[in-house]
Amino acid sequence: MEYVISVNKGRFEDIFNNPKVIALFENKPILKPAPIYNSCLECFAISVCQALLACPPFVRYVKEKIAETKLDMHMKSLVAQFAAHSIPAAGSGDWPRVSISKLLNSIPGGFNGKCREDAEDWYRQLSKEFYDETFGQVSAYYKTVCHECGKCREINDKSPRVQLRCPDLEITAANIESMLAVTGNEIVTWEHDGCENTTCRETTRYEFPDVILVSVDTFQDGNRHIGKELEFFPTEDFSPISVNNDEPDIFHLGGVIYFRTFNCFRDESSGHYMARVYHHGNVFLADDNRIYEQNINRPTEPANSVPYFAFYYRQRRAGRF
Ligand SMILES: [Zn+2]
Repeated sequence: MEYVISVNKGRFEDIFNNPKVIALFENKPILKPAPIYNSCLECFAISVCQALLACPPFVRYVKEKIAETKLDMHMKSLVAQFAAHSIPAAGSGDWPRVSISKLLNSIPGGFNGKCREDAEDWYRQLSKEFYDETFGQVSAYYKTVCHECGKCREINDKSPRVQLRCPDLEITAANIESMLAVTGNEIVTWEHDGCENTTCRETTRYEFPDVILVSVDTFQDGNRHIGKELEFFPTEDFSPISVNNDEPDIFHLGGVIYFRTFNCFRDESSGHYMARVYHHGNVFLADDNRIYEQNINRPTEPANSVPYFAFYYRQRRAGRF
């Protein structure tokens, strides 16, 4: 059967808000980023959406979710638009321009449009409104041990921030692997009763869902920025900080959120967010409605930018999906 999409009724860009149109693209894959038009200071959310839509478990979650809210509907619409823009024969110019203004406004408390927001904060708000209890929840277990008195402290954090610490660059190169090793076993200060020693070892283990936001602390010793030298590889073994650490816990890189800054600090009022995204072995820089394909072996860093956080998704495990 051939489908003809009528554009006579309603505005052209609204055709993807129709559930029947969305259903037409349900089985079509997302192969690349779609250009998203930035209506007004929306780059913080555009970059997050670009990276999330490069994570297949997120896309699957969107498709399988029953649309109950406006946010559900707009997210399904966005996924359908990305699938449409991935169809080579159509040519992206044939499709209505992609905008996420309505999606932004469908989150309670919404975007005021007056100033750029923090991309990581926005993702937290999105996940709170959009994820159910079966998806996207991280849990952290911190265990601190004193080697002097043998005292032990265990803390479980139900909504932790997964933040990778920077290694000592004199000893090792800055990449995710070395950051994972440092983050999993740290020396911390712990003052505890009846003991002189306060320098203790702390192990951090996370229970990871299938899609995770991993923030990278790229300021060594609080001032020296290592962002320029930080390497991201398409696949990482998260077992050094995972509760499943007796076997590899393999995650793929969906995208890295970069913040362009001129003074090395994140100042939302005077910067810009972009995403480097990975789709089916290809890598792209998605800067609002400008999409640049990059060399997978040597992706270039956006000018004047530092990596802020990345989205990873778990490799499919046999029998799990
Ligand atoms: Zn002690």
